[in-house]
Amino acid sequence: MSGTSFRIVVRWAVIIIAALLFLAVVGFRSWRKHTFQEFRVPEAVAVDDSTYAFRDVTAMMHLLVGKDTALVIDTGFGLVNLKEAVNRLTDRPVKVINTHGHFDHTHGNWQFGEAMVSYKDLETISRHDDASYLYDNFLGNPFMKLLLGKKTVNRVCYQPKGKYRPLPESMSLDLGGGRIIRLYEIPGHTPGSIALLDEKKHRLYTGDMFCSECVLLQLPESTDVETYLQSVRYTKQLCRENGVTEFFPSHPECPLPVSMLDDFEKAALRYLHNERSEKEIDNSTSVYGNAQLNVKD
Ligand SMILES: [Zn+2]
Repeated sequence: MSGTSFRIVVRWAVIIIAALLFLAVVGFRSWRKHTFQEFRVPEAVAVDDSTYAFRDVTAMMHLLVGKDTALVIDTGFGLVNLKEAVNRLTDRPVKVINTHGHFDHTHGNWQFGEAMVSYKDLETISRHDDASYLYDNFLGNPFMKLLLGKKTVNRVCYQPKGKYRPLPESMSLDLGGGRIIRLYEIPGHTPGSIALLDEKKHRLYTGDMFCSECVLLQLPESTDVETYLQSVRYTKQLCRENGVTEFFPSHPECPLPVSMLDDFEKAALRYLHNERSEKEIDNSTSVYGNAQLNVKD
């Protein structure tokens, strides 16, 4: 190849690489704007004609509509206009319950004014509601600023606060038309984690207690694994007694088959019986089948 030909090839290579980079940056900025920066109304996915699912970046949120009242389970990260999405589907008065006190489940509460959360998670929720805690621990790092954009990070951290009403240890909520929602405590991921049973539809909503990627039990507020194991067994019993074949976790796959609870039980037992492999011990995990627990070591 002559010197002139080589220079032409290099010039075109530079032009093509620059064009690809430009398109990648434009594409990323457009995706970021739509996903994080616009206060968009999330798409509703109909589970049936009175049950809807929404996704707010990573967390699932659900709307259960009864004859008299509607129930919103979790309000996500606060990045999307969940209130408007709910208003488009029902004109019933709306109650909000959080499956637990983490910000990716509670940060949209302000849109509804008031939410109910277990009194055992009030300390966690007040910490996660604190703008500087949220900024310093989750959103203020360079990666999140690049991903969300600085303005969105500030909007989420410093948005209005919701009001909280503590949930009792057990409760049933009558949505009307025979749709009763029952609350059960299943501590583990947080001390105030709850399951919500939709009796009529045979569905159980379980927050972050049984997720397909991993369950976080290494957090400061998480319980010990023995308590988590008791909650797994209690959840299996609830499913058995109420004809539940699928449960509804918050991340990322939803719903999941009840058979997966066996894997979480066995992962907990591996930890408690010191049966973990070196790799699991090194990674502070306990794994069985499709279940992974991240544990305190
Ligand atoms: Zn959580």
